[in-house]
Amino acid sequence: MRQRFRFQSWTTRQDPKSEPEYKTVCVADDGDKACLAESQTEATPDDADDWMRAHLRDTGHRHFRRTFTDFAELVPTDQLEPARVQRVTA
Ligand SMILES: [Zn+2]
Repeated sequence: MRQRFRFQSWTTRQDPKSEPEYKTVCVADDGDKACLAESQTEATPDDADDWMRAHLRDTGHRHFRRTFTDFAELVPTDQLEPARVQRVTA
């Protein structure tokens, strides 16, 4: 029998157990076709930027498609920690 969650309320959040991923593809066109060189999956935006700068140095290409991927999880709303708000009194 399948488990049912009909009366449970859920919210989506970024999965804290997985790091986001960054990837870059060169879309520069040398006249007859796009380069389409791809970076590895990078751990930070700076790593993706380093790849673009190295590709620019090697090829002169300056146009890229960047993608950011994160991982999500559904969490029962009754298991979320209450929001912590600090009032600013000046
Ligand atoms: Zn390129």
